[in-house]
Amino acid sequence: MTSTQSKWLEAELKFDSRVVGKHEVVMTRGQGSVVWDESGRSYIDCVAGYGVANIGHCHPDVVKAIRDQAERLLVMPQSLPNDRRAEFLTELVGVTPAGLDRVFLCNSGTEAMEAAKKFAITATGRKRFVSMKRGFSGRSLGALAFTWEPKYREPFGEAVDNRNVDFVTYGNIEELRAAITEETAAVILEPVQGEGGVRPASPEFIQEARRLTQEKGALLILDEIQTGFCRTGKMFAAEHYGVVPDGMTLAKAMAGGVPIGAFVMTAEVADRMPAGGHGGTFGGNPLAMAAGVAAIRAMKREGMAEQAREKGAYFMEKLRAIQSPKIREVRGLGLMIGVELKEKSAPYIHALEHEEGVLTLQATPLVVRFLPPVTISREQIDTVVAAFERVLNGVNPRAERQAELAAAQQEQTQTE
Ligand SMILES: *Cc1c(COP(=O)(O)O)cnc(C)c1O
Repeated sequence: MTSTQSKWLEAELKFDSRVVGKHEVVMTRGQGSVVWDESGRSYIDCVAGYGVANIGHCHPDVVKAIRDQAERLLVMPQSLPNDRRAEFLTELVGVTPAGLDRVFLCNSGTEAMEAAKKFAITATGRKRFVSMKRGFSGRSLGALAFTWEPKYREPFGEAVDNRNVDFVTYGNIEELRAAITEETAAVILEPVQGEGGVRPASPEFIQEARRLTQEKGALLILDEIQTGFCRTGKMFAAEHYGVVPDGMTLAKAMAGGVPIGAFVMTAEVADRMPAGGHGGTFGGNPLAMAAGVAAIRAMKREGMAEQAREKGAYFMEKLRAIQSPKIREVRGLGLMIGVELKEKSAPYIHALEHEEGVLTLQATPLVVRFLPPVTISREQIDTVVAAFERVLNGVNPRAERQAELAAAQQEQTQTE
């Protein structure tokens, strides 16, 4: 810590639980694909709040909707119908795959996973689940049971009860076939694994998951928390695969930056939950609903899915053109992009931030993940790629030293 450290950083470091490792900057403002720190320095933001700011930071329609709604009504529980909630449900069901027209509203991705778990149990009368190695489903004790990475689970021992979860290798159809039985309530999978290293599923794998679950009377639940809302070049990644699941978990970008979550499902799944079997105070609150209506309408009006598809292809093509022996693979779908290195990615992520003013995200120790707002321009993509090439080809010595220290810190940190 330096003596010039700001009072904001000092307070945050002092009072925070410290469970999340922190960068030494204080971010104060954002617009579109750019964020600014307290000193006025700008950054191209390929973190986007972990893939939340898909339509850009502070989209004017979302800002206006929040402002208007704040003056009318902030809270109204789900037992009392509300105009904004009705409007949001109509918008959401208007973009989900046909048949997924019943919605449980909540406030985060983790809560959406919890809801999915409970609805799957009551819908099937079964309690076993199939989840994916390298999969990420959230951090609550219930959602953690589906999360592969042992280091997220181990500190909590048997409190994370995954005795009913079978993990299969993502992409391995044989293992999938062996794992799905007549006791399986649901198969849970991300169409593109995010935290697990940005790994798009093969069409065969997802299609086979659909076929096998149908055959065995289990549900297919797609975790579209990170892939949903135009991130991959379609409104939902499921559309790339021509598959309609029985349920999808949604959150992150759904309300343009405001906390929100949802489990969308078929009527058949929804109708088997006993009345009062699940709930929550803030789910469907008018503020999040107003933001969500504005965000979904903006995605449609501005053709965000198509933009993500085109810009993603451009971004990946440029990344693939980088000449560096340190790159093992560039992969992704739309604007969900990962570059796997042959060495730890943390020093490069650190150098990008400090030397180049570009924010990126780790996904497994070797991968640099890019989740920019869909509003990112081709010029900004060029800037990011040039910066990445520079840090790969010659991190300057001073930065290298700092980066080593930061890497040691970031190693223990989480990106989500
Ligand atoms: C972020 C994420 C979650 C957890 O969502 P939170 O809003 O952080 O609770 C679950 N699954 C996937 C695929 C995610 O990317």
